[in-house]
Amino acid sequence: MRGKIHDNSSSLSNLKPLVKRLTEIKKQAEAIGLFTDDRELLECTCGLIEDIAFDGRLFTCRKNDHAFKDTGLRFIKVNENIFCCPECKTKLKVELL
Ligand SMILES: [Zn+2]
Repeated sequence: MRGKIHDNSSSLSNLKPLVKRLTEIKKQAEAIGLFTDDRELLECTCGLIEDIAFDGRLFTCRKNDHAFKDTGLRFIKVNENIFCCPECKTKLKVELL
C-alpha cells in the first residue's frame, strides 16, 4: 500500500496554468472597462467620483448627482497606485486592496 506523499512542488505546478489563466481574464476584464476589485473607488475633491454600474462597469459621476449619470470621464492611471482626475488633474493616491 502506498503512503500519502505531500509533494508541494507538483501541486504548485498544477496551479500555475490556472493562475496564468486568471491573470489573463483579469486583464481582459480591465480592458473592457470592468472593475476588477483590486483597489478602492476614487473620489476627487472636485466632486468627480467613481462608481460601479449594475453590469460591473466602472464609471464616474458627480458626487451630488443622485441620478448617478455617467460623465463619460475616466480617471487616468498614472502608475500602480496614482490616478489623475480627468477634470481638475488632481493626482489621487489609491489604496490597493
Ligand atoms: Zn477632480
